[in-house]
Amino acid sequence: MGNLWNRKALDVLLENLKKDYDVYAPKRWRGDGCYSDTDTIRYGRIDSFDEIVWNAKSDYSFKEALLPISDTILYFTENATQIPDDKKPRLIFLRACEINALKRLDDIYLNNGPEDYYYKRIREKAKFVLIGCSQSFDSCFCVSMNTNRTENFDAYCHRTKEGDLYLEFSDSALASYTEGIQVPEAVQEIQYVTENEEVVPVPENLPADIAGSQVWKEYAGRCIGCGRCNFVCPTCTCFTMQDIFYKDNENAGERRRVWASCQVDGYTDMAGGISFRKDQGERMRFKVLHKVYNYKNRFGYHMCVGCGRCENVCPEYISYIECLHKLSKIGGNEND
Ligand code: SF4
Ligand code: SF4
Repeated sequence: MGNLWNRKALDVLLENLKKDYDVYAPKRWRGDGCYSDTDTIRYGRIDSFDEIVWNAKSDYSFKEALLPISDTILYFTENATQIPDDKKPRLIFLRACEINALKRLDDIYLNNGPEDYYYKRIREKAKFVLIGCSQSFDSCFCVSMNTNRTENFDAYCHRTKEGDLYLEFSDSALASYTEGIQVPEAVQEIQYVTENEEVVPVPENLPADIAGSQVWKEYAGRCIGCGRCNFVCPTCTCFTMQDIFYKDNENAGERRRVWASCQVDGYTDMAGGISFRKDQGERMRFKVLHKVYNYKNRFGYHMCVGCGRCENVCPEYISYIECLHKLSKIGGNEND
């Protein structure tokens, strides 16, 4: 059972929620696109439900609402350090594939050795609102990756044909923010896609010598190592550290962790001038096999959720989906 919310009622609800939450959703950043006069759809804090982009896939995933691109993890002076104050709880609107991606982030940051303090303190207070998918978008292959559905959400919503928002709550704490707001009751089905235009064979039984395959060679010349495929991916979790020293006191500053990319120069640099995977083909191999091979060996399910963003964003038109097709021809696939 849910309710139909008109714009006026949603304004009241959002004001109630904002007292205790920063509300994040996909919004349009005008003129911020890669090419002139183009926009970007990415996550940001909203002050009105009108800001939410409902009818397109965001270029960047929900990940930056939970795991900031640049996050100060401590301040330091000559003889002391201080961890920044806790952040306000977050309420995040996201789609089914992304809630499945959240499981991957949890397993990396919370269940893969010691828990990550900074991730945990945001994650454990965050709430998630599933946005129903009435359609599949360009390059989505969530059905192939079995990530088109989820039951792990605190509330669910979709836009109705009449322009209202159908909203139902499964979390009672979140539902309490609706008290006193008069909205009609309704019962509507949760919207999931059941097929995508892209049907992608998930590679299986790859031979032990796949790392040496010719398949990686073409990427050596084509990939420019920009790292965009990593930055849009909801399941990439690598970061690097930066120490910032203040100009007025060079012994004081802050340590930040910043997203990193396995495709970019310097990622594998080590003390002594050693660097692994200098060749872009080797970097592509590392990324792709991590998404659909090595991660599964460790956690029992694939890392990739089939959102297709890496496919959409590559400036060199390198197709990750085509790469999965090629790998499936070498080793077979899970649908065989
Ligand atoms: S590897 Fe590509 S398709 Fe898979 S989750 Fe990451 S961005 Fe999406
Ligand atoms: S987005 Fe394309 S060119 Fe850039 S690092 Fe990824 S595969 Fe290479």
